[in-house]
Amino acid sequence: MKKLVSVVLFFSYFSYGQFCGFDVHRSELEKNPNFIAQEKASEQRIKLATQRIRTESQQRKSANQSTDLLTIPVVVHVLHLGEEKGTGTNISDAQIESSIAHLNSFYRGQTTGSTIDFQIEMKLAQRSPTCEITTGINRIDASDVEGYEEDGVSLYGNGASESTLKQLSLWPTSDYLNIWIVSEIDGNNGGGGYQGYANFFNGGSQEGSVMMYTVFGYDPTGDNTDWPLSRSRDNSTVVHELGHYFHLYHTFQGDDGATGGAYEAQCPINDNPSTDGDRCADTVPHKRETSSCPDENSCTSENWENDNTKKNIMSYYRCTDRMTADQKTRVRAVMEGSSIVNSKGSQQLNQPFVAPNAVCSTNSVSTWTSGILGVTLNGVTMTSNYSAGDDGNIDETSNCLNYFEIDGSVSYDLEVALSFYNFQQLGVWIDWNDDGDFEDASEQQYLDDDIPSESTVEISISYPENIPYNDYVRIRLICDLDDRHGVPQLTSPCTSSLNQGQSEDYTIYVKESSTASVAKNNVLNVSLHPNPAKNEVNISAKNTIESVTIYNVLGKKVSSYTVNATSKNLDIANLSSGIYVLKYLSSNAVGSLKFIKE
Ligand SMILES: [Zn+2]
Repeated sequence: MKKLVSVVLFFSYFSYGQFCGFDVHRSELEKNPNFIAQEKASEQRIKLATQRIRTESQQRKSANQSTDLLTIPVVVHVLHLGEEKGTGTNISDAQIESSIAHLNSFYRGQTTGSTIDFQIEMKLAQRSPTCEITTGINRIDASDVEGYEEDGVSLYGNGASESTLKQLSLWPTSDYLNIWIVSEIDGNNGGGGYQGYANFFNGGSQEGSVMMYTVFGYDPTGDNTDWPLSRSRDNSTVVHELGHYFHLYHTFQGDDGATGGAYEAQCPINDNPSTDGDRCADTVPHKRETSSCPDENSCTSENWENDNTKKNIMSYYRCTDRMTADQKTRVRAVMEGSSIVNSKGSQQLNQPFVAPNAVCSTNSVSTWTSGILGVTLNGVTMTSNYSAGDDGNIDETSNCLNYFEIDGSVSYDLEVALSFYNFQQLGVWIDWNDDGDFEDASEQQYLDDDIPSESTVEISISYPENIPYNDYVRIRLICDLDDRHGVPQLTSPCTSSLNQGQSEDYTIYVKESSTASVAKNNVLNVSLHPNPAKNEVNISAKNTIESVTIYNVLGKKVSSYTVNATSKNLDIANLSSGIYVLKYLSSNAVGSLKFIKE
């Protein structure tokens, strides 16, 4: 192993000034016309969301409410060179955790200069993409990747292919913020040059942030001699790169100094502060300057009006310590309602995830502008597009990171946003008892036509007599062009005559309201004994138990039985020791009980 970065280099990083690879990386991406189109679309979305946030913020101010806290699940991939954990590029858990903690202090407005609370927190993942328990830290020896041991990752110069490195360890970007920790960027030997870079969050295939192992962490006490990141501006690269991930530009955006090589920076145009430069009206245009912290703005030759720009973490100045109110608005406009803030990747899985049973499918069409644009339930929105944009139907029911959650003892309104064009018809069904059809009591929630374009339909959720507490059930929504336009009338959740629209299926978790769940087990008089059990466990109930399924704590089905009796002995001799969940169907109601196998 060639690389053992010397302590001298490690300490000396900040004397090089903070360079970020955002512009260089972006100029590469901009060679792709799809990227430019996507950027345009997202700016349009940000503009609309910004207007909404400004209005809501006024309302909140008068009602004295704060914004919702958004949580971003994070996975850190440490691409090391084969060292022991906690040594060299294979940085310790403590170093990683310190970086995340400091990042949160900054974005929650708790550091000296940063007083604006973005109400955003980063949290290491606790569920993997397959919903297994995780620390949110993946360690990968990348020394075999061509060029990595010599020069790290290639951004603009020597080193291993970024795409090859990311593919070593990559979690779905719509559900996690991926951070790759690397040994070097462009062979900078752990010293100056680019220290990190990030993409705007759009849910694209390899989005996230790449960061040098020498800049990821913060230890103001100076106690951790292995990673002496104790200066006040340490970890600022991480805060800066996350700003890019949240769609913030540099404060000097538009100075045309993008290539990182020789260039003549010019003063950015700023005719319209919401569309030019960094798109934030409370910073001012300036040229990039990496080292000084000047009294004057070189574009105006006058003193800065305030410290919003000079001390802005999205500049390259050395005195940076803050962000602004407009930057917060832009960040919230991007992130509110996005798949990643809905993701349950950073939450412990208390109840095993069991995807709802399959039901009939509908036919699929994928070239039209009829369809469902968003489904909102209990504060979570699943955003999508019309049938052409979604390439037909959507079935997200096996996604254990993104589903709705409700408490069955509470009333909810479901909101369904429909296509911008023409009159529509809409049907909504919930398979409450998870028996694979939509034919039981209260399963049809809504079925109507003559709905004008751009409507958001509000539907009050109706529950069956036996609410399936503690269960994952399927909701199906079908939208098609209205029959006034000559397409068939929608009558069935299993329609095979979809003409221009689509079906969308999601999972709803009906939270265990503990008193209600115990009450239901009591009403049905369902019990398990003995508990804990060794070789056999007996289930009994007042009425016929139709079937029983046993799941382990990861939600994996381990056995199932057809019962059709009021009592049955279940053979559990082959199960390994641990906690199991038994799900039963009795009197057309689903319930669950936990037991311990000794
Ligand atoms: Zn940057």
